[in-house]
Amino acid sequence: MLGSEIRRKYIEFFQSKDHLHLPSDSLVPDDPSLLFTSAGMVQFKPYFTGAAQPPHPRAVTAQKCLRTDDIDEVGDAVHHTFFEMMGNFSFGDYFKREAIHFAWEFLTEWLKLPREHIWTSVYLDDDEAAEVWEKEIGLSPSRIVRLGEDKNYWPANAPSKGPNGPCGPCNEIFLDMRPELGTPADPAHAIAYDSNRFVEIWNLVFMQYLRGDGGTLTPLPKKNIDTGLGLERTAAILQGTPTNYESDLFLPLIQAMERLAGVRYGSDETADASLRTIADHARAAVFCIADGVMPSNVKRGYVLRRMIRRAVIKARRIGYEGIFLRDLAPTVAEMMGGWYPELKDRMTFVQTVLESEEQKFDRTLSTGLSRLDEEIRAAKSAGVPRLSGEAAFVLYDTYGFPFELTEELARAEGLEVDREGFESCMEEQRRRAQQGSRMFADVFGGTGESIAELQQTVGATAFAGYEALRAEARIQAILRDGQLVDAAEEGDEVQLVLDVTPFYAEAGGQVGDTGRITGRSGSAAVRDTRKRADIWFHDAVVEAGELRTGDTVTAEVDGERRWAIMRNHTATHLLHAALRKVLGDHVAQSGSLVAPDRLRFDFSHFQAMTPDEIRAVEDEVNRRILEDHPVQPEHTTLDEARRKGAMALFGEKYGTEVRTIAIPGVSLELCGGTHISRTSQIGLMKIVSEGSVAAGIRRIEAITGAAVLAHLRGLEQRLEEVAHRLQVPAADILPAIERLQQSLREHQQALEQIRDRSSADEAEEMARLAEDVDGFKAVCSRTSSTDADGMSRLADMLADRLGPSVVLLGSESGGKALFVAKVSADLVARGLHAGELVKAVAAEAGGGGGGRPEFAKAGGKDPSRLDAALEKGRALIREAAGRRSG
Ligand code: ATP
Ligand code: MG
Repeated sequence: MLGSEIRRKYIEFFQSKDHLHLPSDSLVPDDPSLLFTSAGMVQFKPYFTGAAQPPHPRAVTAQKCLRTDDIDEVGDAVHHTFFEMMGNFSFGDYFKREAIHFAWEFLTEWLKLPREHIWTSVYLDDDEAAEVWEKEIGLSPSRIVRLGEDKNYWPANAPSKGPNGPCGPCNEIFLDMRPELGTPADPAHAIAYDSNRFVEIWNLVFMQYLRGDGGTLTPLPKKNIDTGLGLERTAAILQGTPTNYESDLFLPLIQAMERLAGVRYGSDETADASLRTIADHARAAVFCIADGVMPSNVKRGYVLRRMIRRAVIKARRIGYEGIFLRDLAPTVAEMMGGWYPELKDRMTFVQTVLESEEQKFDRTLSTGLSRLDEEIRAAKSAGVPRLSGEAAFVLYDTYGFPFELTEELARAEGLEVDREGFESCMEEQRRRAQQGSRMFADVFGGTGESIAELQQTVGATAFAGYEALRAEARIQAILRDGQLVDAAEEGDEVQLVLDVTPFYAEAGGQVGDTGRITGRSGSAAVRDTRKRADIWFHDAVVEAGELRTGDTVTAEVDGERRWAIMRNHTATHLLHAALRKVLGDHVAQSGSLVAPDRLRFDFSHFQAMTPDEIRAVEDEVNRRILEDHPVQPEHTTLDEARRKGAMALFGEKYGTEVRTIAIPGVSLELCGGTHISRTSQIGLMKIVSEGSVAAGIRRIEAITGAAVLAHLRGLEQRLEEVAHRLQVPAADILPAIERLQQSLREHQQALEQIRDRSSADEAEEMARLAEDVDGFKAVCSRTSSTDADGMSRLADMLADRLGPSVVLLGSESGGKALFVAKVSADLVARGLHAGELVKAVAAEAGGGGGGRPEFAKAGGKDPSRLDAALEKGRALIREAAGRRSG
């Protein structure tokens, strides 16, 4: 039975039991505490906790899962990183009894698994479940074992260790793969640990308690069922294959790799394990990318990168050095695209991402590997059982080896790797990077302590800039050259700290505000605003009088500039939404700059945008502008924002309290920036450039509002300049250019005619002077024409006039000698050879060349030898003629 049939049967079976079939959730869950979806129940958590109402009390799914915990297990018979878990769920509806009956009926009647090879494990005190198995199903008590909370509880060890929340005992179902061995001596131990013989296929979780502090278990008013049946394991059992990898869910991938690498699966155990890992990681990587994960050095992207690079190393192990994941990806789509159409829809993108990541790693891999070898050898010969953290860091930082990869490769050589040392190198690098940023290192000597001190003495700055551009404030502190001072006078460059400010401090790509701070006895121009922790620093120059700590001042933002910034910021959100609409969901913001004069937006996308795409994005943004949508800021929780699908910057840290900017129906983003209140205030948006900044990252620059008008005027002015030069009205530019081109063509033709005529005259003259040599004519002469084409044409004309002839022409041009030779056909038949002639002649002028017997060209570096070379030619022709006639 094919994997796809098992999947379909499972869904059908539970549909026949009144379950609602729901689609697989993305591998990237809504839950920010999870890296990947690791089980079917993840998307249903809100139903189990009662936070949301299910659409139906019973559900069935086939869920894409990824378990990073199992990555070291991959290559064994039954563990994968990516796998499919089929599950049936009850939200306060049926419970244990029905769940066990359903499982038994499906396994024995729909899949026809042998009843006598099925075993089950229940939790120590779960007599209820044991009884159903024994009394109602009729399973022999000898095949029902009891296991503790480490094995048969969800979450594992919940009663003793927690977490608080819904929990309950599990009931696992196993298949005995070696029944011929008889009943094991210690069945519970064998079930728990002998996974070669007893393969766990299905886990039924009976969510029946609410754990409270101290491990108290209160029965849930509404009990739930959550189950997971592994598709790959089930397929392998039904297909009778030794491991999951020979089942139809993997074999085509292994075979594709066999073909690529020219190896055979099944001939060597180490190579087989590599092939299995490659197949597993290829599948996982394809699914990850199709769900929007991009290789990177953090979080999900890091897991993806690890799998890709690990697969590349495994490929090297079997002797394959080329790009391959890109080429395995379509096989994954062929195998599974019927059920998961996103694989087919995003295949080009998936392949581009894979290829780029493979190439990136490929460039440093060999040097990295030999570096690692050296380190391993050095450690071994020094008798040290571990590699240093620094070594692992260099491999990571310079050669792109994920730490775990170095660890795995070192372990294969019997060495451990110092993880702590590695982490501290990483930490050190982060610290250096932070110091390098211009953030107040100058002012605070790079330490966080002075900030903490300032927080104590002056407290946080209140930001009033969402509502107002002007505020009455008090100067809390003045810093000059990193020192607190009481007063600043004309000409001083200082940082001013206020108790409240309307100035936006640079963050999230939006630049800091500028403006003016005015007190009774002086004023300062604010050139930039930055913040650290919750203190705002106004970089200012005192322009007149004096400012003192404690002064009451008016802080006023440059309004025109801020309005331009706000237009650009809201336009950036519209642009982001439009790009995703036009190019696809893989578009993710990777950086942005929101300045008064323009906006810049960097995003993931793998090829240059076409002019049509750019226009479509521009149209979409401007449509939204003209539709005059409200722009609504809202303060909410991170969970709530994610639930509503707010776009967040990947890798960005957000507190639990967040601000979102909603343009209802168009865009929802987590954002702390300042915005206009309706989209129409943007005026118009125009993209002015689109280009690449790094592999897979594009950059768009665009302008809005008054900048568009300025841009239009610039274009208009250039157009007028062109018209002025052409001396026509602007409307007549095109016909004027056509006329110009036409007249140029005519002049060129006239010029060519003149050239031809003068060549004809020259040919006439030369023909008259041609020398008679043994029944044919010979010309060896300088020409006035100095380009090869002109000379060839002249040679043709001469040959036409002369009949049987040898023509050798030379000229001097651009500090070089140029030769052309032509031998008429009848003389070629007599053994004369233009190529050889011209070669020997050019050699006289320090050059070389050659060609066909009838026609050849050559050049020489020394034009002063031109005459001598022609003389040589003349001698050679005579000599050749003499030889022929003699
Ligand atoms: P194991 O102990 O074999 O790792 P598990 O107890 O971690 O399994 P569950 O969390 O109960 O498994 O998941 C339910 C089912 O999903 C399992 O019975 C199995 O069929 C399947 N499964 C779990 N992990 C994997 C994996 N890494 N690869 C393939 N299938 C898996
Ligand atoms: Mg497991």
